[in-house]
Amino acid sequence: MMNPIWEPEFEAADAAFVARADELSRSHFAGRAAEIDRLQEYPWDNVKRLTSAGLAGMFVPRQFGGGGSTLTAAAAVVERISIDCASTSAILCAYQLGAFPLLLAGTDAQKEQYLGALVGGEGVSFAISERGAGSDPAAMSASASPEGAEWLLRGEKYWIGNGGASRYYVAFVKTDPSAGARGISAFMVDKTLPGITIDEYVDKMGIRGTQTSNLKLDVRVRDSERVGNLNRAMPLALKTLTVGRVMVAAQSVGLALGAFQEATQRAMTRETFGSPIVDHQAVAFKLADIATEISAARLMLYEAAHTYDRGGDVAALAAMTKLFASEVSHRAADAAVQIWGGLGYCKPTKVERIYRDQRIMEIYEGTSEIQRLVISRAIRAAARP
Ligand SMILES: Cc1cc2nc3c(=O)[nH]c(=O)nc-3n(C[C@H](O)[C@H](O)[C@H](O)COP(=O)(O)OP(=O)(O)OC[C@H]3O[C@@H](n4cnc5c(N)ncnc54)[C@H](O)[C@@H]3O)c2cc1C
Repeated sequence: MMNPIWEPEFEAADAAFVARADELSRSHFAGRAAEIDRLQEYPWDNVKRLTSAGLAGMFVPRQFGGGGSTLTAAAAVVERISIDCASTSAILCAYQLGAFPLLLAGTDAQKEQYLGALVGGEGVSFAISERGAGSDPAAMSASASPEGAEWLLRGEKYWIGNGGASRYYVAFVKTDPSAGARGISAFMVDKTLPGITIDEYVDKMGIRGTQTSNLKLDVRVRDSERVGNLNRAMPLALKTLTVGRVMVAAQSVGLALGAFQEATQRAMTRETFGSPIVDHQAVAFKLADIATEISAARLMLYEAAHTYDRGGDVAALAAMTKLFASEVSHRAADAAVQIWGGLGYCKPTKVERIYRDQRIMEIYEGTSEIQRLVISRAIRAAARP
């Protein structure tokens, strides 16, 4: 029987990436997911497999050794892996987030060095947040001051996805503290440099196989390590986050699909009052609602990715897609736990893990409130005479 959830159709090149992800996820990631969650263990084996299958750097242009994929393919791969293991897909998303400032504004030399390293398995992480500056990154306190041909970077970044696991970091710091959002620049830093310390790892509710850390900076870097224009890194961060939001939407759809599959399977087999619980309309309607919402979120996801691939501006659409898909995944995870009853509340059921993994979708790369802020700003801008 056909799955009632809307299915995207892919061009041959995109479909080849998805088939590779499907194979890896089925044969390796699905079986490891519960263990890496329980042990809170960074799955280096999964990362190596993603790297050798050409998926870690699939979106890096071919001239720098990557797969030259579309965003559509990258989203589809993340969606597919998220069905089985949200930690592994979050690792892949963090690779993309780290790479995009370089893709968008890096010099050829920077792209060759850092994207080449990423394709070979040495990750690049995106470091803008601080303990005191998440939704409002312009409130950051890390700074860089000029010292001859070098910059002295000082401060502490926090919540860095793949922190410690990545070799390189795109660190956003203030280069003109009096200019607010117009005084921020981005620099590449290498974790092996003296003056870089990573010594705090966050103990998380979900996506526990990912590593999230601090990044202490007290380091000199050459001006050639600056990514993009001086004091203009905030628009670069926002463009990067636009792409990142499409990827979080993909993760959300994958998690919702995982929840739907588990809930359907349980509803078909668990019997109460002499019949499978799917025969109780209250249960069947929950499945109907989730299937409808996932289809809508998926349609938005692939439209956003296609529009980006065609060169369109997706800043508002990406915010809407992330907002909607992340909240759909919340409702899907909640319904799946409910359908699983007491077991759904207990480890090691997959729905219990999805329920925890899902929650970050509404927080990172801009909370749901920040997405609503982005959308309402777009509405105001369009309505202005
Ligand atoms: C697991 C994980 C991974 C992460 N990965 C990265 C990473 O790789 N790189 C990186 O730089 N950062 C990363 N982050 C940071 C993440 O992006 C921030 O946590 C997020 O943007 C929210 O910032 P905050 O935690 O400071 O919340 P706050 O900004 O303190 O917000 C608290 C609450 O207030 C609300 N709020 C704030 N301002 C407004 C407003 N103007 N209107 C309405 N409501 C508002 C928020 O929506 C939220 O509900 C990660 C975080 C986590 C937990």
